[in-house]
Amino acid sequence: MENIGSITEVVVARPAERHPGSAPGDWFVDRRCIGCGASWSVAPHLFTPAGDGRFVLARQPADAAEEHAVQVAAELCPTRSIGTGSRRRWPPHHPMELRPGVWRCGHNAWASAGGNSYLVQRPHGGVLVDAPRWSRRLATRLARLGGVADLLVTHADDVADAERYAAALGARVWVHEGDAGAAPFADRVLRGSEPVTLAPGCLVVPTPGHTRGHVVLLVDDTVLFSGDHLAWDPDTGDLGAEPAVCWYSWPEQLASLRRLLDHTFTHVLPGHGAASPELAPADMRERLSRLVDRLAA
Ligand code: SF4
Repeated sequence: MENIGSITEVVVARPAERHPGSAPGDWFVDRRCIGCGASWSVAPHLFTPAGDGRFVLARQPADAAEEHAVQVAAELCPTRSIGTGSRRRWPPHHPMELRPGVWRCGHNAWASAGGNSYLVQRPHGGVLVDAPRWSRRLATRLARLGGVADLLVTHADDVADAERYAAALGARVWVHEGDAGAAPFADRVLRGSEPVTLAPGCLVVPTPGHTRGHVVLLVDDTVLFSGDHLAWDPDTGDLGAEPAVCWYSWPEQLASLRRLLDHTFTHVLPGHGAASPELAPADMRERLSRLVDRLAA
């Protein structure tokens, strides 16, 4: 793992708006939390639902690893609601390399309800999967990591500042026609239901359901950038998909999940929700098959 940059990150959670359910101690979550779950997705042992649609710290971090996890969560928080009473600062952890050549951008946007975005480094320019909130510093770092040739909007509600990043980095913008209205600046509109090769080793698979034009990106038959289609559930230790946040068609989302059985992948990196561990292809396929059967029952 590598992180770059040495500029101190300033997180501006508001002590005066501390959520009363947040565990006593220096770290806290403030009441501006929108309940996106990004903090819980990276530190489910430290963050917990407050019961009012928000998340709070269940307890204070107990060691260096947990302190690191809370800092990472704070960098993902779209409302900057996670911080310390002592105004602690640290060198930024994002962009954070999750596996060789795959980086989580951080700077999750309120406009995309805290969805994650990722950079995939490729020989002829990277692929940005969804977009964070605008940060010139982050754009500079993405350029230093090899740049962005293509920006894929996986679905309508995770567009965030895609237009600004694409303009700053000279990227082509891809979106499916079903969600094209959310990204009118896109210059590559995907059509139909067949997979399309965006770049060598990068396959866009239409997965309507969460939205009409939802797509996922499969890289090197290994990493599935699943948007809001599929995620890991830390509570169950298994794959999950959520009908309560399906905006277009749950039957179509189930059919799209079933079609993913035609593909091989070992690691799921979602827009919302937790990342899966690296799994053997057969294990991942078995879990997906069981999930589809469970959800269709
Ligand atoms: S990341 Fe921020 S907004 Fe999202 S659930 Fe956690 S504290 Fe709330």
